[in-house]
Amino acid sequence: MRVGVPHTGNIYIPLKALFQRLDVDYVVPPLYNQRTLSLGVKYSPEGLCIPFKLTLGNLIEAAELGADTLLMAGGYGVCRLGYYAKIQEQILHDLGYNVELVNLGVSERKLFSLLELIKRLSNNAPWSKIISALRFGLAKLNALDGIERVVQKVRAVERIKGTANRLFIKAINAIDQADDYNTLKKVQADYIDQLVQIDKDTQYKPLIVGIIGEIYVVLEPFSNLDVESELGKLGVEVRRRLFLSEWTKFSLFLNPLGVDETDRIHKAALPYLKRDIGGDGWESVGEKVLHAKEYDGLVHLAPFTCMPEIMAQNIMPSTRENIPVLTILCDEQTAKPRMLTRLEAFVDLLERRRRAHNNSR
Ligand code: SF4
Repeated sequence: MRVGVPHTGNIYIPLKALFQRLDVDYVVPPLYNQRTLSLGVKYSPEGLCIPFKLTLGNLIEAAELGADTLLMAGGYGVCRLGYYAKIQEQILHDLGYNVELVNLGVSERKLFSLLELIKRLSNNAPWSKIISALRFGLAKLNALDGIERVVQKVRAVERIKGTANRLFIKAINAIDQADDYNTLKKVQADYIDQLVQIDKDTQYKPLIVGIIGEIYVVLEPFSNLDVESELGKLGVEVRRRLFLSEWTKFSLFLNPLGVDETDRIHKAALPYLKRDIGGDGWESVGEKVLHAKEYDGLVHLAPFTCMPEIMAQNIMPSTRENIPVLTILCDEQTAKPRMLTRLEAFVDLLERRRRAHNNSR
């Protein structure tokens, strides 16, 4: 059995650690690139969202490398994500790949079902080995996200733009190479230290922009044209709630115990939207309400044709809580120069708004 998983952010690093420790043959598909997108667009039904297209392209690339068991996130919620794995499997079969697509309905099936799946993939490895491998994978995930949080802050204030990003790439590789907890801890501490040491403009007070929207396009820089780095270059500090480590912590461990991280967000959205509309639409509305006083603006990432985010986009202008929101539709047609122009205009607007606010005090 050769296992393949399409990319979402840096999830391949914890997965690699998990599967290596269980002696599972794990095929890492190429990082997203123009060919992945072209394959996905070519073989997807017209009008599907960018997460479907990119993951399909990456599944094809994994199958080309010999993966025969492909894992794909799925769900039983309101949006069409629930149909992804079935449709993608059919497309792969039509293309002649003899693969099995396993629908990872993680948020519904919770930890025990995930453990059962790992048991099957690892050819019945002992539970102690599975739990130990999973723990190490999660430790890598936490280390990656811990460093990324620091990178988000440093990008906005570093004097030589791009320094934090370069260190982040090195940190990702070092975390990937780390073979035990001690090395992992040391790598994390070293890189955070190096990020803290970067030459910064300590007088500069960056604008704070929250990143909200559909989880896949928020977490996968290729799909959002690396919007966070681009904002960093414009001197903006980004904040986001969605991190894979947080999602995993709640989805696998805390949600089954009745702790729901989205309760507060849903409550905030209630005056404008009373129920789940699929995907992350409800959360987008709630986050706008919650962050209106904390942030200078919000960048709302929405896959083109994503119904939950289109509904959220249309509800947001009518909330009482007022904060500028820039919605960016992510698609294969989205051109980077156009996005950069819109980001620059948005940042200008936020700066003028902040100046006007400061002058009125
Ligand atoms: S939330 Fe939107 S982008 Fe995500 S799977 Fe559903 S329709 Fe597609």
